[in-house]
Amino acid sequence: MRFPAEPFKIKVVEPIQKTSYEERVHLLEQAGLNIFGLPAEKIYIDLLTDSGTSAMSDHQWGALMIGDEAYAGSKSYYKFEQAVKSITGYKDVIPTHQGRVAENLLFSMIVKKGIIIPNNSHFDTTRANIEYHDGQALDLVIDEAYHPEVYHPFKGNMDLGKLEHTITKFGAERIPVCFLTITNNSGGGQPVSMQNIREVKALLARFNIPLFFDACRFAENCFFIKQREHGYAEKSIAEIAREMFSYADGCTMSAKKDGLVNIGGFLALNNDELAKRITNLLILIEGFPTYGGMAGRDLEAIAVGLQEVMDESYLAYRTSQVQYLAELLEKENISIIKPPGGHAVYVDAQHFLPHIPPAQFPGQALVVELYKKFGIRAVEIGSLMFGNKNALAAASHPTLELVRLAIPRRVYTTMHMTYVAEALTELFKSRNQIKGLRLTYEAPVLRHFTARLETVPPH
Ligand SMILES: *Cc1c(COP(=O)(O)O)cnc(C)c1O
Repeated sequence: MRFPAEPFKIKVVEPIQKTSYEERVHLLEQAGLNIFGLPAEKIYIDLLTDSGTSAMSDHQWGALMIGDEAYAGSKSYYKFEQAVKSITGYKDVIPTHQGRVAENLLFSMIVKKGIIIPNNSHFDTTRANIEYHDGQALDLVIDEAYHPEVYHPFKGNMDLGKLEHTITKFGAERIPVCFLTITNNSGGGQPVSMQNIREVKALLARFNIPLFFDACRFAENCFFIKQREHGYAEKSIAEIAREMFSYADGCTMSAKKDGLVNIGGFLALNNDELAKRITNLLILIEGFPTYGGMAGRDLEAIAVGLQEVMDESYLAYRTSQVQYLAELLEKENISIIKPPGGHAVYVDAQHFLPHIPPAQFPGQALVVELYKKFGIRAVEIGSLMFGNKNALAAASHPTLELVRLAIPRRVYTTMHMTYVAEALTELFKSRNQIKGLRLTYEAPVLRHFTARLETVPPH
């Protein structure tokens, strides 16, 4: 079977409603054509993000009930710690309520002015936490990652030439750690191969630089290794994960992705001295080391989720649901990033709307239309997200105008994906009628969250 059916049946349902076209037009107007301003209950299919939107299993819901809420030494913490240790092999496990706190704790200790942190591609919170501490975040992913049409099985790979050049240029003493994001979220959810991880580790070892993973989607990365890399077809996901983590010295993790929960995260490492200093800061800003900003029940749910996420029938269904949507779009000649990643399909909005220039936000125009006509929420990753006033004045724009369709885990059925594909297909047929947008309000930083826009009137 190319597209395996869902490896679960549905025990609890949450009704979703299809609003009327008129209501959506009104809601969009109120929100200033910004989908972040929409009430979620007015959305039919919400593909804004895969973060914290997973459906938990009956086992996870059951585990919530046995959460131990002791302030110190909670039984649930030890289960959580054991789950993290058994997957990563790291001995110091520090719980946090989200991935970005793990990043903040780590970078508080090792980043200051003059420090360089390389990554294949930094996720926005990772970059922001480095820059907040006056460090410099460098993206050193292979060039193929910047070409949507080019097929590469591991488009998240680090460019070893760029990495070596960076180390010799700045000096190893300015690089306290190198990161690899698995899968590479900012680059389209693309995986990193085991060979690349091994080679990155070997290069870093020559200069005594530790390697850390941004491990949010570690299980999806392992599944791609199993499917696409020679020598791994017969290995279990747990075995692949164990080998993968063995090449790194630690990881940050948002459990809102491959932890299959709605909140949570951790930092894990093999460095008692550093872990001790981080734990002192944890107590100051998050909580005691055996709960770190989470309830005992959250720790229970993560412990179960981390095991469930490595189930191969789940991962086969998960990745092929993304693939299924991608293929339906490609069949209609809608251009997407190839191959689709583990958690989302990225539509090339500039190809979709060639008549709308980057200054008029083709990605956002498509996002607005998708909600207005079909009640689907996607997110723009293009000029609106990355541009700013000065960039606009200088007419400089990010190279790719993308619309991301992020798929929550175990939430929507294949029929929902069919609906999304049919919606985009219909829009594609009448795309000449879609108009560009212009800003009426923008905040000085991270403007896409609160921007207000209007349609550019025809002249
Ligand atoms: C989501 C995410 C983070 C941040 O995690 P939060 O739980 O949202 O704070 C960091 N890195 C990557 C790759 C992510 O996808």
